Amino acid sequence: MILKGTFLHAPTLGELEIRPNAYLVTKNTAVVGLYDTLPPEYEGQPVTDWGDALIIPAFTDLHIHAPQIINRGIGYDKELLPWLETYTFPAEARFADPAFADRAWKAFLNHLWAVGTLRFSAFATIHKEAAWRLMELTEQSGLRGLIGKVNMDRNSPDSLREDTHASLADTEELICRSREELRHTRFILTPRFVPSTTPELMDGLGQLGEKYDLPIQSHLSENPSEVAWVAQLHPDIPTYTQVYEHFGLLRQDKTIMAHAIHLSDGEKDLLKNKGVMLAHCALSNTNLSSGIMPLRQDLGLGLRCCVASDVAGGHTASMARSVAATVQTSKLNGLNHPDQSPLSLAEAFYLATRGAGSFFGDVGAFLPGFEFDALVLRPSTLDALVERTPFERLEQFLYDGDDRNIAARYCAGSLVEQPFPELELA
Ligand SMILES: [Zn+2]
Repeated sequence: MILKGTFLHAPTLGELEIRPNAYLVTKNTAVVGLYDTLPPEYEGQPVTDWGDALIIPAFTDLHIHAPQIINRGIGYDKELLPWLETYTFPAEARFADPAFADRAWKAFLNHLWAVGTLRFSAFATIHKEAAWRLMELTEQSGLRGLIGKVNMDRNSPDSLREDTHASLADTEELICRSREELRHTRFILTPRFVPSTTPELMDGLGQLGEKYDLPIQSHLSENPSEVAWVAQLHPDIPTYTQVYEHFGLLRQDKTIMAHAIHLSDGEKDLLKNKGVMLAHCALSNTNLSSGIMPLRQDLGLGLRCCVASDVAGGHTASMARSVAATVQTSKLNGLNHPDQSPLSLAEAFYLATRGAGSFFGDVGAFLPGFEFDALVLRPSTLDALVERTPFERLEQFLYDGDDRNIAARYCAGSLVEQPFPELELA
């Protein structure tokens, strides 16, 4: 496949490469190269000419709660723990109904497609049937997803509190079934967070991680009340991060921890050594008054970080908005910490594309050998009134872009159409 257009990507943190009127060649799922003039060996082959469109890497969202898509924008009068009880748990309990789950998952996948998130790692719910259905639908969608059945067996409402052994058995069943029946959609272990999982359950999940060599996702140090609660629940383990380590849940280079706001220096050393991906959720951290993650400091320490939406702590699945919010919160943080310079838009864009994409391997930039994931952006009528540089067009898309201006989406080398057209996007 050969595409022509203006390509813009962030191959490293802080670097933007802009290639106007260039040619990108792909073979199977991956990029062969990006050229200013088409190499002679490709002459005569069909070229998809996107004209004046701007072509950027598609987004990867490594922290999103699929069932909470129905709660976007609701309940930000509360902080994390009462917000979970009041809004989140009742919404998740509805996914015991397979017909409801089926409709919600299709709408969720349509929605991710619409906003340009073509790879993701999602929490499903505790329900085995619903989690499996999300895996199947993701496989059909053309998007690439890691999906986890949530595990919860303590400090949870009756409707969402599992029996420990049943939780482990259901999890193992889904691991095996997804390996046998799915090609692209993979299972990710998903203990909700320490307060809702007993030591026995965490221990069992750690063993499943080893047995099947699985990735893991969870939450870490999001809110001060939560951190204090974990200390109470595990008085013999010095820090929140070490609780996960104790139960084998910090798997080397295969773990995503969301938020990671209130951490000690020792915890950061441990997270760095384990290669844990820290998902920065600027919208959620603001909506639930959780705090500001010191992203500049963490990047300086060499921690792996990415930008994520955390729907529905985050009020939109749009990664463009999460990128903008990352810069905004970083600026506010800089007011109180002049030694921590705010992130640039180019840096935040990197964290939502190449940074997050790295969890899937060579993903998130237009480099040779990388999986070809891209969004083709047409300027809106409003934005076309004034001639803009490619970078200015990226800025306007990230801050106030409209997904109706995404003219095409490519994931792993293939054009992806709306996954479930029987459900209207609006
Ligand atoms: Zn979350």
